Amino acid sequence: AHNSLNAKLVLLGDMGAGKSSLVLRFVKGQFLEFQESTIGAAFFSQTVAVKDATVKFEIWDTAGQERYHSLAPMYYRGAAAAIIVFDITSTDSFARAKKWVQELQKQGNPNMVMALAGNKSDLEDRRKVTAEEGRIYAEENGLFFMETSAKAAINVNDIFYEIARRLPRA
Ligand code: GDP
Ligand code: MG
Repeated sequence: AHNSLNAKLVLLGDMGAGKSSLVLRFVKGQFLEFQESTIGAAFFSQTVAVKDATVKFEIWDTAGQERYHSLAPMYYRGAAAAIIVFDITSTDSFARAKKWVQELQKQGNPNMVMALAGNKSDLEDRRKVTAEEGRIYAEENGLFFMETSAKAAINVNDIFYEIARRLPRA
């Protein structure tokens, strides 16, 4: 049978990691070199078709700043999926991503589908976090891992598609 489902999805991660850019690429096929930083959170929706289902993502793109941290549970509570984003050129952003994973493991929906995105994969010459580090961390913590580039449109549709594929069916 063909399922139609709505799935709340939240993007979390350090400010500047590329959360808004991934959403803009996914929803509108666009990229901005000077993406404005997100205030609070922004909402988008986009539908993807996978083999046995049509999934309408209800996407909450959160701000990465510490001062908005207390708002985050509003967005991840009840979420079916999360993308935790870091920037492969920043070890700090990778450390911050791990904190988000820990918080979701403690406070999030236990069946949440979680993806770890190592974004800005186009910046290979400035890389500080290896793909291996991302992959191992994800494997040990029950997420799946992809390196993405919102700028070069690498693995962006793919990460949403893979989440859609993994969502439990009604
Ligand atoms: P957010 O704070 O996590 O929402 O990050 P933004 O989406 O606002 O992106 C922060 C900056 O990084 C912006 O200047 C973007 O243009 C840039 N950026 C985002 N994704 C990429 C990417 O994949 N590659 C490169 N080179 N720059 C990116
Ligand atoms: Mg943003």
